[in-house]
Amino acid sequence: MAHRVYNFNPGPSTLPLDVLKKVQEELLDYKGTGMSVMEISHRSAEYEEINNATIALTRELMGLDDKFHVLFLTGGASTQFAMIPLNFAHSGKKGAYVDTGSWSDKAIKEANLLGGSHLAASSKADQYRYIPKESDIKVPPDAAYLHITTNNTIFGTQWQSTPRITGVPLIADMSSDILSRRWDFAKYSLIYGGAQKNLGPSGVTLAVIHDDLLKKCKDGNPTMWDYRTHAKEKSLYNTPPSFGVYIIKLVLEWVKGQGGLEAVEKVNRAKQEKIYGLIDKYPDFFKGTVDKNSRSWMNINLRLPSEDLEKKFIGDAKKTGFIGLKGHRSVGGIRVSLYNAMTLEGAEKLAGFMEEFRKVNS
Ligand SMILES: *Cc1c(COP(=O)(O)O)cnc(C)c1O
Repeated sequence: MAHRVYNFNPGPSTLPLDVLKKVQEELLDYKGTGMSVMEISHRSAEYEEINNATIALTRELMGLDDKFHVLFLTGGASTQFAMIPLNFAHSGKKGAYVDTGSWSDKAIKEANLLGGSHLAASSKADQYRYIPKESDIKVPPDAAYLHITTNNTIFGTQWQSTPRITGVPLIADMSSDILSRRWDFAKYSLIYGGAQKNLGPSGVTLAVIHDDLLKKCKDGNPTMWDYRTHAKEKSLYNTPPSFGVYIIKLVLEWVKGQGGLEAVEKVNRAKQEKIYGLIDKYPDFFKGTVDKNSRSWMNINLRLPSEDLEKKFIGDAKKTGFIGLKGHRSVGGIRVSLYNAMTLEGAEKLAGFMEEFRKVNS
């Protein structure tokens, strides 16, 4: 039995053990082909089956009909930051953005390199402690789209519901909370994310785009930068990140096997309660950094009474088998990432460690 740690890495992050075992089992001989998925043609019947099944599972779990194209791209969410304005901010129109943290800010920067953006709302002046209220979101009626970041991986805030904005297509970066809870995915025209947090390994970018938005792609972009290329060819215009897509398929099967999003949400709810429970119980020791009504279930940020204690916490945790708890370099402190593949047992064990740490160090 391999030695495994409790992996709280923010991304790439922990994957379900059952999925890794399945990958191992099928690594040398995928379904009698005598080859690994890494070695088979993306034009083969075996890969076509993987591609189609992954598309179908994505639609099924998200509750989407076939008006939504499911794409497996490369370049990470960061490439989508540019691809979105490149395709949709044209004919004098600009996208509107809600700025809720570093990733939104990076998306805005790319839009500004490509013709500009509207700032629909921002919590920057308050250190991104919260998600702006719906009534504070101002979208010009001629905006090309509204862009939000559903979970702010670095600051630890998360949208609690989809903003009710009508008249413009809604686009969301869901890199760090996709499939973590039940959600009204069908209200979005484009959902995208790097796979390496909740979906699979790094190297695949998922993009789910509604046909109505696809029709608005600008003509004249380079082929690989045009969403229509990938929609038309079912992500097989060029060689896709095939091994990564295969692992995503296994992760989606795992999600379905858990009982789908309702079941996953239940476990995720219980996990975050363990950690926020301590923040609420010992607010002078475990200091939450965001407003209660904007708390993220995926990334929990906290500070301890001193930076020395934070260092000790991270060191002691590592010795105990909990890794990846250091806050992002831009904000410091502690960050507990509780993506889908982190077990309830892992969150409970960490909470136990935190109780003990407080007892000994306060
Ligand atoms: C990790 C992350 C990104 C960056 O993704 P890459 O795949 O590294 O480009 C973008 N947005 C959010 C919300 C993230 O968590």
